[in-house]
Amino acid sequence: MPKTAFKLLLLFSFSSLTFFAVLLLHLKARNVPAAVPSSLVITRNNTSVNILAAAVRPNTTPTPGRPGGALGPCPDGPPNLLGSLYVEFRTNRTLQDVRNLVGPFLQQGGRYRPSSCVARQKVAVIIPFRNRYEHLTHWLHYVHPVLMRQQLDYGVYVINQDGDGAFNRAKLMNIGFVEALIEYDYDCFVFSDVDLVPIDDRNLYRCSDHPRHLSVAVDKFNFILPYATIFGGVSALSKQQFLKVNGFSNTFWGWGGEDDDMSQRISYRRMFISRPDSVTGRYKMIQHERDSHNDPNPRRVQKLTETYFNIIKDGLSTLSYTVREIRKDLLYTLVTVDVQADVDPDVSRSGLKPGSNSYKVSLLSPEEHFQD
Ligand code: UDP
Ligand code: MN
Repeated sequence: MPKTAFKLLLLFSFSSLTFFAVLLLHLKARNVPAAVPSSLVITRNNTSVNILAAAVRPNTTPTPGRPGGALGPCPDGPPNLLGSLYVEFRTNRTLQDVRNLVGPFLQQGGRYRPSSCVARQKVAVIIPFRNRYEHLTHWLHYVHPVLMRQQLDYGVYVINQDGDGAFNRAKLMNIGFVEALIEYDYDCFVFSDVDLVPIDDRNLYRCSDHPRHLSVAVDKFNFILPYATIFGGVSALSKQQFLKVNGFSNTFWGWGGEDDDMSQRISYRRMFISRPDSVTGRYKMIQHERDSHNDPNPRRVQKLTETYFNIIKDGLSTLSYTVREIRKDLLYTLVTVDVQADVDPDVSRSGLKPGSNSYKVSLLSPEEHFQD
């Protein structure tokens, strides 16, 4: 009798081992294509565009340099940093105030590059946006000087969701990646909420060997990292890292979940989250109420159990949107986009507009922003 029991136990252990081995192999196989793709086709204005083809990038940016000599690379540690900064949001600032302050150093579209050396990285700063011009003004006032002191070759892209459909922060960031890349050969992408201002300029807006979470100590959370895998707020991924995870998911409508989904994409693609220390990584957040049409997504927790299987089929490779307008302000490039807020059946269809193939590029006058 004990012999039979032993045999049964042996059989049971063997079959469960086999089951788990097969399951592991199966999961691994589903997740294999971790290599960076050499071509990536997205749908922009109902047209397919391979965003990795050099042809999509008109060479409009003058090469840095000064007459009579090539510039050397900028030092790894920017020499003019100040350390901790005083930041407050009580002062009533206008865009024109900020233009007067930092405009003389910028090129149209919120572009900058150091004049004395060649920047180590070309950084696109992407801000997901709708109707937060007051926050944007504070952000531009404080962050432009920081990025200049950090000696970056950078551009600021405000990706403005058109209409009043459900907000989609992650899809706006995917769009920012594509729109910035169409304009210039950026190698690093910093994704930043409009209401987060760093209060230490040693927190470099650059990319590292692994995806980097920059907003580690926010005043709203008493300057403490709320949980170990957090990746929301401000984060930086190199072009290669972003391609490796297929960008963000496009299917998180409303508030929450998309940043944790990205955090999981990163670990499933065998990368880690790198962070500055909790003094360097301090931030102030501008206080605000929850916006309308950005209610917490009731599916956000459930969706996180699906990340593993969705990396390949939901992201940059399935991105589709229409550009309504590209406006060049001195302080930033404003890209207004239709994110097709009707595609998710869970979400109301408000704010929907018919698709269009045409879009405008125009220069922005200071007050136009505040008219809506
Ligand atoms: N956002 C926006 N308009 C909206 C909703 C969100 O511009 O109507 C952008 C903005 O950059 C904001 C970010 O999305 O900082 C994250 O949203 P929110 O600030 O509500 O999230 P929180 O982190 O404060 O919970
Ligand atoms: Mn916020």
